Amino acid sequence: TETKVWREFDKSRLYMADLESGLHFLLRVELATHKTLEGAELKTFKDFVTISAKLFPGRQSVVKLLETLQEWLVSLPLDKIPYDAILDLVNNKMRISGIFLPKKVQWVGCQGSRAELRGYSCSLWKLFHTLTVQAALRPKALINTGLEDNPQMVLQVLRRYIQHFFGCRACAQHFEEMARESLDSVKTSDQAVLWLWEKHNVVNNRLAGDLTEDPKFPKVQWPTPDICPACHEEIKGLHSWNEEQVLQFLKSHYNSDNILLTYSE
Ligand code: FAD
Repeated sequence: TETKVWREFDKSRLYMADLESGLHFLLRVELATHKTLEGAELKTFKDFVTISAKLFPGRQSVVKLLETLQEWLVSLPLDKIPYDAILDLVNNKMRISGIFLPKKVQWVGCQGSRAELRGYSCSLWKLFHTLTVQAALRPKALINTGLEDNPQMVLQVLRRYIQHFFGCRACAQHFEEMARESLDSVKTSDQAVLWLWEKHNVVNNRLAGDLTEDPKFPKVQWPTPDICPACHEEIKGLHSWNEEQVLQFLKSHYNSDNILLTYSE
């Protein structure tokens, strides 16, 4: 059996190791179950890579890799792409030119007390929140990609990613139902940030006490008062969220200067 070293971490920070491990898993494991990409799947993957290349607040080597992948996908005249060709590019031997994505899984803020808990799904949420927050902070980032001018766009791309690729099919179905019900109400990029936050809390609520819950990381309505006291209010004895404060909190929690490189090589 594998002996695991617990990595100490600060839950009020993000760790690049989680985000990069998530991207690694997405590109080299989750996507690998699709032998060829075509049609709506290919379009979804292209759009996902585009928003990631433009919005991921990562290290230069990783952003460059995403940009290279995006340019390659956009320039290909094919309507069908074998996964192996994508993998070749993702694994490219260009370390020397400073383009690479570390080939390993190293969970920090997404560590689970058992190997099958947390990890990838935790990192995917963090990646998604990071992308919606970056879109709100940098409104010009998607200009000339064909994905600009629509404040729902980032969420719609993430929704399609989940629909076509997320390994947890029951999760995908749940998420699609929530999107179908209310994603249309999103009119600004701030509302997109709050929509994802709210839906994530709906999922947390549904999963509280479930078998999939890590006893060390109980499902809570997030952010808890210890990390964002101003987010919580009491009106006539009932708890309510101060959404303006929540938005501000999300914009700083998921901003690049809250990402730590500890545990990243
Ligand atoms: P996660 O819920 O993965 O959260 C990761 C981190 O995000 C937390 O540690 C916290 O720092 C932060 N966070 C928590 N809540 C919020 C919030 N509201 N807004 C912003 N940041 C927050 N599992 C199922 O069993 N059934 C499902 O239907 C299901 N649907 C899913 C749908 C999607 C789109 C995704 C990505 C995952 C889904 N999962 C589902 C997996 C599940 O939500 C958790 O990811 C998994 O159980 C691991 O939980 P966790 O404790 O690491 O916390």
